[in-house]
Amino acid sequence: MRVILLGPPGAGKGTQATLITRNQRIPHISTGDMMRCAIAEGSALGMKAKAFMDAGKLVPDDLVIDIVRERLLKEDCRNGFLLDGFPRTIAQAQALDAMLAKMNVALGHVVELEVAEDELVKRILSRGQAGSGRSDDNDEEVIKKRLQVYREQTAPLSEYYSKAKKLRKLSGLGTVEEIQAGISQVLKKG
Ligand code: AMP
Repeated sequence: MRVILLGPPGAGKGTQATLITRNQRIPHISTGDMMRCAIAEGSALGMKAKAFMDAGKLVPDDLVIDIVRERLLKEDCRNGFLLDGFPRTIAQAQALDAMLAKMNVALGHVVELEVAEDELVKRILSRGQAGSGRSDDNDEEVIKKRLQVYREQTAPLSEYYSKAKKLRKLSGLGTVEEIQAGISQVLKKG
């Protein structure tokens, strides 16, 4: 099972990804987590990524594509994986298509979680106040920038995957369990 979880910041992708990957026994690949980890380690990648992340902007495509390519080649991705926060641009989606073609595997579903923007700002701010440990969750200006970047650069992926007949949109409103049940239904249909 090769799944992409799409949706704006605050839609609940991380929470849902954790549950799906536990149930399906596939690796949870979050480019945001990988970059926060690189920053914590003080690696060259982390140092390059930090300024973009702190400003709410996207890290350049080439950096992110390289870390995903390396990750997908690991043994644990052989039977599937869930991508959370990648791709975020059309260029990343095209690079992913090329990686999958090279691996001789097909993408399953792209599940998009939809949540209205005013609700997203509220959720992210309360996540920051609850101690998410994410510096980009505390500043309303940075949150608004992340949402604007989503609208401009990531939302077009909806059409990209809709044309490829991979997209399934679900409401991101409701309890964690309700949303999880909706996603499970989609994934079950294969
Ligand atoms: P996330 O944890 O997915 O919300 O990502 C946090 C931040 O990491 C984003 O605001 C971006 O700065 C950066 N980031 C994560 N994934 C990507 C990606 N696929 N492309 C570019 N930047 C990314």
